[in-house]
Amino acid sequence: MLRKTKQRKLILDILRESRNHPTAEEIYIKARMYMPKMSLSTVYRTLKDLVNEGKIWEIRIDGENFARYDYPLNKHHHFYCRVCRKLFDIEISIDDCFEIPHKIEEFKAMFIGVCENCLKGGVYENIREHGYNRY
Ligand SMILES: [Zn+2]
Ligand SMILES: [Zn+2]
Repeated sequence: MLRKTKQRKLILDILRESRNHPTAEEIYIKARMYMPKMSLSTVYRTLKDLVNEGKIWEIRIDGENFARYDYPLNKHHHFYCRVCRKLFDIEISIDDCFEIPHKIEEFKAMFIGVCENCLKGGVYENIREHGYNRY
């Protein structure tokens, strides 16, 4: 197998197995365990190709200067927690709600708020008092 093909397959495998929407650097750290010679720029380039081919998703969050990546095993949307900054998959269908004359090919929604775990920790009460900046 060509080196480039191998690298690509490894990156796809890593993404398929990590369901936590890793960043390019997190993918790079994992990839180096299997292919120590892989460079960060190769990871970036391969991710870009895969995004352009529609094989993976790139997720950008306002205010963050890095992207997260997702190998979508199924159609889903995302919920972003402002407190722990985790991205959760949400499987709901809202695509059918639109009656417009255009042809919708995809619709990706990002829900933003405070996740279940952070709510349990009572963090939400603190946020209401002090704002998000504390976190
Ligand atoms: Zn959270
Ligand atoms: Zn996802």
